[in-house]
Formats: sequence, C-alpha cells, structure tokens
Amino acid sequence: MKTFCGRANPTTGSMEWLEEGEDYDYHQEIARSRYADMLHDKDRNVKYYQGIRAAVSRVKERGEKAIVLDIGTGTGLLSMMAASAGADFCYAIEVFKPMANAAVKIVEKNGFSDKIKVINKHSTEVIVGPDGDMQCRANILVTELFDTELIGEGALPTYEHAHKYLVQEGCEAVPHRATVYVQLVESRRMWSWKKLFPVHVEAEDGEKILLPPSEMENCPGVPSVCDIQLNQMPSSDFSTLSDVVKMFSVDFSKPVQSASTYYRVQLEPVKSGKAQIVLSWWDIDMDPSGMINCSMAPYWVKPTSALQWRDHWMQCVYFLPREEPVLQAEKLYLTACRDEYSVWYNLQKASPVCRCCAHVLWNRPRFGELNDQNRTRQYIKSLRKVLKPDSVCLCISDGSLLPVLAHYLGAKQVQCMQPSRIDLYHPHELWQAFFKANNLEDKIKIIEARPELLKPSHLEDKKISVLVGEPFFTTSLLPWHNLYFWYARTAVSAHLASNVTVLPQSASLHMMVVEFQDLWRIRSPCGTCEGFDVRTMDDMIKDSLNFRESKEAEPHPLWEYPCKSLSEPQEVLTFDFTKTVPQHCLSTEGSVKLLRKGKSHGAVLWMEYHLAADISVSTGLMQLSNEKGNCEWNPHCKQAVYFFSSVIESEILSDPTAVTYAINFDTKTGEIAMDFKL
Ligand code: SAH
Repeated sequence: MKTFCGRANPTTGSMEWLEEGEDYDYHQEIARSRYADMLHDKDRNVKYYQGIRAAVSRVKERGEKAIVLDIGTGTGLLSMMAASAGADFCYAIEVFKPMANAAVKIVEKNGFSDKIKVINKHSTEVIVGPDGDMQCRANILVTELFDTELIGEGALPTYEHAHKYLVQEGCEAVPHRATVYVQLVESRRMWSWKKLFPVHVEAEDGEKILLPPSEMENCPGVPSVCDIQLNQMPSSDFSTLSDVVKMFSVDFSKPVQSASTYYRVQLEPVKSGKAQIVLSWWDIDMDPSGMINCSMAPYWVKPTSALQWRDHWMQCVYFLPREEPVLQAEKLYLTACRDEYSVWYNLQKASPVCRCCAHVLWNRPRFGELNDQNRTRQYIKSLRKVLKPDSVCLCISDGSLLPVLAHYLGAKQVQCMQPSRIDLYHPHELWQAFFKANNLEDKIKIIEARPELLKPSHLEDKKISVLVGEPFFTTSLLPWHNLYFWYARTAVSAHLASNVTVLPQSASLHMMVVEFQDLWRIRSPCGTCEGFDVRTMDDMIKDSLNFRESKEAEPHPLWEYPCKSLSEPQEVLTFDFTKTVPQHCLSTEGSVKLLRKGKSHGAVLWMEYHLAADISVSTGLMQLSNEKGNCEWNPHCKQAVYFFSSVIESEILSDPTAVTYAINFDTKTGEIAMDFKL
C-alpha cells in the first residue's frame, strides 16, 4: 500500500507531498531505535544473563518447569539467554512487527526455534489458554521495558496486566526490582534550561535589565522529562544540597499498580542553598537479594566503579516548580508524583523556619501592632513634636520601627539598641536587610550593647537629645514589664543631654474591676462533673493557687475574652521617665466603686504611655461603652488579670459597694504586688 504524506520541507519551508511505502515509519523507527545501543551495553547484558540464570535455577530447584515470558523481546536476546540457561519454554512478545520478524529469524539462526515462540502482539493482547498465544501462565517474567525515566515506555501498565493475566502468582522476575534515586541540587547551568534570567543591556543611557514576565517566572514548565548524560556535567556546574536518597522502588515479582500515586521522602540538606533541580536515576536488581545490580548512578555516586557508557538509559533532570531556599539540616519533604508514564517533583518544608529573623523577633501580635497604622500615626505625631534637625536620637525597644521613623522625620543621628542574638538569630541581619530594602544603609546605627554597657563611642561621642521607646521588649509578659525602658533610661543617664526629651515622657498603670463572660471558668471550682464528685481536684487547685498564683496577676489578651466593666477605669500608679527610677517603692492604696450590677471576677490592669503632652497610647482599654460596660481592648497586647479569690455579686445600690486595693511597685525587683479586698 502506498500513502501520501505531507510535510513541510525544513529547509525551504514549502509543503511537500511524498509518496511513502507502508514501511516508511518502520524504517524510520528502526533507524532511530536504540536496539544497537542496548546490545552494546555490556554491563546490562551481563547482568540480565546472570539474573536470568539465577531465576531459572531457583525455579528448577523448586522442581518446576521454567516457563518464561519475555515482554518486548526485540532481537529475542533475553529469551535466548533464558533458553541457554535451561528454561523449558519461552514466550517472546514483541509488538513491533519488523522487530518481531527479525526475532523469529535470529531465534532460528541461533537454534532456539523449538524453545522460543515469538508472538507479534502487544502484551496486553496476548491470550493464555489451549487455543491462545500461551499454553499456560509463565513462572519467570523477563522484561526490559525501561527508559531513562524508568516508566516512560509504559513498563507499569505492562507489568500490571502481565501479573493479572500472563504470569503465575509468586513468579520470578528479572529484573526483580527497580529503585529510583534522587539528589537535590543547585545549578545555575541546569536552572538556566528552565528559566529566562534577567538580560543585562549596556544601553546608551545606562544599564537596562530585561526581565521575564511574572507569568513565566511562576510557570512550572512542561512535564516532559529532561534526560541527559549527567556524567558530562562537571561537578563545578552544580552543587549537591542533599545526599542521594531512595525515592521509590517497584517490585516486579509482585502485582504492580500503574495508577497515579506519589512518594515522599524526608531530606536533610547537607548545605544551605537554592533548591532548583532534582537529579534522578535508577538501578535494577536482577535478583531478589540485590547481588546483581545494574546502576545508572552518575560518576560522583560510586567514584570507584567503572562506568558503562550507554545512551538508551541516561539520567533525569527534574526542575522544581520554583526555586526554594533551603538551610543546612532544616528538614524538607520531597514528593515524587507519578502517573502511568511520567514523574514530577515537589519540595515542601517539613515545617516553616524563619529565615528573616523578624518572626523570631516579632511574635504575631507584635506584627499586628507594627502594622497598626493608627498606632504608628500617634508615634509619628509625637516624634514630629520633639525631633529637631540636630537631634541625636537613641531608641530603646526591641525590634522597633521608631528609629526608621525618627530618621524619616529628620533626626540628624539615629541609633537603636538591639539584642545581639536571639537563639541562633542575629537581629542586626534583619535590620541590615530592612535598611537595604529601603535604601537606609548607614543611616541608622545598631548598637548591640546592653544599656549599662553603652559607651560614648557608640554614640560618636555625642549626647542623646531624644531618647525614644515604644516601649516594647520581647521579654515582657505582664504589661508593666515594659517598664524596663525606665531602667534602661536610668542606665544610660550619663549619655543624655541635659535638655533631653524622653518619649514617652511617662507611663501610667490603670485598673478596672470586671465581670468576665467566660474567663472566670478557668478559676472556678467544678464540684461535680457529669454527676461525679471532683472536689478533691478543686481542693488541690485551690491549695496551689493559694500557695502562689492567686496572689499574682496573669497575662490574657482580653479582646479574646469578653468582659464588662463594673467600675470606672482608674489610674493607680505613674512612672516618670524624665527622671531616673527612684530608690524607694511606689505604692498606692484606694478603693473603686462598683457601678454596675454583676459578678466581680477580678481586676484588669494595663499600661498607658504618654508620648507627648496630649498623645497617649493604651495597651489595654481602648474604649468603654458606658451603658452596658462593654469594653474594647487593645487587640495587640495582653493585659494583666488579677482574679479575686471570692466573687462578689453587686446590685446597683444608692451607696455602691467598693473594692479596696493596695498596689506596690518595688523599684528594686521591678515587681508589682497587689491586694484587693471586697
Ligand atoms: N528485550 C530486548 C529489547 C528491549 S527494547 C533487549 O533486552 O535487548 C523493548 C522492546 O519492547 C521494544 O522492541 C518494544 O517494541 C517492545 N515492547 C514494549 N512494550 C511492549 C509490550 N507491552 N508488548 C510487546 N512489546 C513491547
């Protein structure tokens, strides 16, 4: 039969109609096939032969006849090996007609016609039975259906079908299993096969940079495998980020599933870098013990063993969907997804790890606080009032943006004090990055000293004219712990100009008696629970509370725990930051009237900072709606809650009940002790 095939001439571009014989495609396929390359692969051939001999012996040792199924026989090579090894009969399946014809001739020429039956079919068309292609199911399954990606030539569905219909349960398989290996690498060279890097152009008017569009940046690319002769890739062209790990393996002697699935391994990077590429290859064990192994591992994996050159099996380069920075020893998960014919890879962080230090320096509420534009405006307004062009400004607060604000608002010299380390992190690295991102390098100086170790040289021998703080410190748990600012201010007194402005100028402690909607439960005895008397537990807790906790306030973010105020908020103590911390204690006593009907569960305490004469920020109560006593609390801060040991129920009386309090701030220890009487 003759057919006309239309194709564009690649040189002239014109469309040509050629008359082709029906063998045209066959010849093309044979000419381009890798049969010769496979047959030149000495290592492969030797190992197949060893594996086949071993499998035939195992079957013979069991006293069984050795019936071989050779799927994809090609030249008939593996069947002839089996017959030579003593197999009783071989069914050699070959779908490709010219090859099947060749196999018949080759088998005949080698004198195996009585032992080998060549069947020109796709294996899934083969029928077992008295009138079928095979008399019976085989007990040895021999194949060589692998490509560089292992499964790209359809090995999995072929095996799946063969186990269902063509071989006995518990058959021997040569190869017995295949294992896919991976190694994570960074390689600009290989990554440049997937991405367009920015193109630098020396134009007349300076350098221009041509950038790829974000659609291209974020595109995962095409799924076709990138197979290369990895042994030609010099080690200087990539950097291995992980050890070689086993990704998955397939046991060919058992039923095989070809349906899509995924495999996941944990990796621990051996060094930090940019994960871009997964290099992959496989090996096959010809026998169950793995003694006869044929490996595609590249040169650096087993440097001592001789490498077999082959072109029919190479190594794979998989591109991760996007470049992922990884840290040495920071655990990762690598996932191989596969369908019937191909594999692709994804990388996941085992758990997120902060790289930028901000997530260590700032907790989540702190992020919220720094993002609170209203709050920032208060600080800006206040800074604007106090800063002058010749201001020498020092900021004492952890991870604060105030130094940047002070710089923007025109302070001449800005310094900030930062802890030099938090765990393994160096906050100054965050600040360097932060400053760089905003072109503020060298504008703000970071002093990694504690206040008491501040030296004139840190300040370029200048006196501080403006001392600022939010104040905020990562170590503070209760609201008044941020009074550390006052202690720091005291410690740096010698460096302050005589007319120094301290912002905030003062702080005050506020208090209010509340009824909680629910939070009271955490302190309330249970009595009975589902009819069971649990008072023993109540007593135990009570003893422990009396021992210590109940005399102390505890931090709670009250925006999460609704309560209503039973008293007016009251300022109970003030702290004057323009002066140093006094030697003596600060104490106060007084009483608050209960204005509303309700249960007095406890008192809430918080700090307010007075930034300038008429600008204050509250870390506690933001607003009080008076009729019902509903409270709105600062959403970024925790307030102190002091639970009363007994709850009093107040009625609205003409002469309202009062709660008396005594609060003492011990300036030596920085502790606030309090006592309430109902
Ligand atoms: N076994 C030979 C040839 C291997 S090449 C050797 O080891 O030297 C793989 C051959 O398998 C190809 O000729 C291909 O046409 C054939 N083939 C692949 N899948 C097949 C299937 N399911 N049924 C029959 N032939 C198949």
